[in-house]
Amino acid sequence: MAYTCPKCGNNTFRINDKPSGLVSWEKKPDGNIDIKIDTIFPVRAYFCSSCKYVELKYENPNQS
Ligand SMILES: [Zn+2]
Repeated sequence: MAYTCPKCGNNTFRINDKPSGLVSWEKKPDGNIDIKIDTIFPVRAYFCSSCKYVELKYENPNQS
């Protein structure tokens, strides 16, 4: 199912089939970045195949 893209107005705005996750990170005292894969922020990606615009919305894993 396609929707109207909020960026370019074409009818090519779609919802990604699977949920995605953003990983959080922390800068450690030694300057290295520590990726926290146990605290994924769940999102659903919406994308436009015309202008490549991507939008992320929070998706509660317990409601899907
Ligand atoms: Zn677009």
